[in-house]
Amino acid sequence: MNKKLFVLSGSSGVGKGTVLKGFLEKNPNFMLSISCTTRKPRTGEVDGVNYFFLTKEEFQNCIENNKFLEWAEFAGNFYGTKKKYIKQCLEEGKDIILEIDTQGALQVKKQMPEAVLIFICPPSYETLENRLRGRRTEDEETIKKRLEQVKTELERAEKFDYRIVNDNLEDAISELSRVISGEMQNA
Ligand code: ADP
Ligand code: 5GP
Repeated sequence: MNKKLFVLSGSSGVGKGTVLKGFLEKNPNFMLSISCTTRKPRTGEVDGVNYFFLTKEEFQNCIENNKFLEWAEFAGNFYGTKKKYIKQCLEEGKDIILEIDTQGALQVKKQMPEAVLIFICPPSYETLENRLRGRRTEDEETIKKRLEQVKTELERAEKFDYRIVNDNLEDAISELSRVISGEMQNA
């Protein structure tokens, strides 16, 4: 059976991680891809679980050796998905979800047109800003850099296959499940 690749994107703080966590708890056969990043770990984040935390040199080395399916600079840090990791998961028969930024999502679609792109929208800009600030994981400068991306991200969302508004959390999780199970039936 063909395995599917789903890509979830959306502005920082919109609730991608929270929606995905709810989805994965109900759908344990899905694997969440672990990305590489040069960002510093937040309190509680574990190397090899949340991300593979790399130095800039290590990341650069992966770029030069063509190790990434996609990579992007986002708000001052580098993020990328290793080709090998995705290939391995698909070979093991796992359906896989990437949670990556909009630049990376469009790169994946170019290389793998069968990938399904899902964009998580905020109910309003104010809600997005409140969620990002309320998370208390970024300093003011980083919050500003992330908010500066929102307009471009919403423009890129037009190119996605699906858009889901994350207003009520349970509704957003149900909508994601509906979209994914619909796509699986078409596989
Ligand atoms: P992202 O992964 O998109 O950066 P997070 O999943 O970390 O965003 O969510 C950002 C903040 O918003 C978190 O504090 C989370 O608990 C909160 N949040 C996420 N979804 C909702 C929702 N539907 N309603 C209210 N708060 C939410
Ligand atoms: P954060 O620093 O909040 O964990 O992530 C910042 C942004 O980087 C989010 O939009 C997240 O989806 C994105 N991101 C995480 N991993 C990757 C990746 O492998 N590639 C790309 N392009 N973006 C990623």
